[in-house]
Amino acid sequence: MNQFQYVRATQPQAAIEAVAQTTDAKFIAGGTNLLDLMKRGVMTPQKLVDINRLPLNKIERMDNGLRIGALALNSAVADDKLVRERQPLLALALNAGASGQLRNMATVGGNMLQRTRCAYFYDVTMPCNKRAPGTGCGALEGINRMHAIFGFSDKCIAVHPSDMSVALVALDATVLVRGPRGDRRLPFAELHRLPGDAPEKDTNLETNELITAVEIPDGPFTRHVHYQKVRERASYAFALVSVAAALDLEGTTIKGARLAMGGVAHKPWRLAAAEQALVGKPATEATFRQAAAVAMQGAKAFKHNAYKLKLGPNTIVQALRTAAAA
Ligand code: SF4
Repeated sequence: MNQFQYVRATQPQAAIEAVAQTTDAKFIAGGTNLLDLMKRGVMTPQKLVDINRLPLNKIERMDNGLRIGALALNSAVADDKLVRERQPLLALALNAGASGQLRNMATVGGNMLQRTRCAYFYDVTMPCNKRAPGTGCGALEGINRMHAIFGFSDKCIAVHPSDMSVALVALDATVLVRGPRGDRRLPFAELHRLPGDAPEKDTNLETNELITAVEIPDGPFTRHVHYQKVRERASYAFALVSVAAALDLEGTTIKGARLAMGGVAHKPWRLAAAEQALVGKPATEATFRQAAAVAMQGAKAFKHNAYKLKLGPNTIVQALRTAAAA
């Protein structure tokens, strides 16, 4: 591992100033991804600013929703009474992510900002436009079993790995950010970006901005929800495909729906057209199949991930079926 400077901050403004003082400085909280990246030489920050002591770990009730501090631990959020009552989809998605030990270390802000698990990104001997812009994409003609079927470019076909983020995009969350130019709010759907010509950029955060919290508005999705994750081993693994599903039912009629997928794109993939296809329809297998077909329009597979074209709609149907029955 490269040598680096380490400092601790106790207030957000001081942390931002400490990061801004040094080129290639990074915030560190749980470190469950960043330290792995540093050990492998994928990221080589000159300075780490430890933000674990910032007062950003509260889970609070607001007038019209919940605010969760960026330093709240994944396990604490998943177990929180307010979250389980008001946003059970988020709790389900969190508990589907990583292992118990990792959830005890990982923070909400860090979870959002974790980087792709594309094997070529982690192997510094291989070409990767995300790690080393301009070197090419090893996965494009290589092993691409885990890779994207939506929203990719010829520069990068990686997927975003967070389960929590799939639920947050479905729930219309908002990210609160503080940076050298002050505070701003960002719809969660705009936090992550597609690779385009600049796959080295995972998000639309500006330089030295710090995520301070996420807000989730109240909604009717407190009962008929499900997070379906398909992975290669039950203990813990990243999603091949995952689906966050939430239904607002009146009798057996769907009044409202939220759907998003993970493991299929460079960002959590909201399925707005499929949501529209569900509204006003009976909550039946036929309706779920129709919505899944809508969701998969435009999907395109590579050499090794064509299975996702079938696994995707089946996972959507399974998630909707389970949500409806909840
Ligand atoms: Fe790198 Fe993206 Fe290609 Fe993976 S898919 S090798 S992360 S450029």
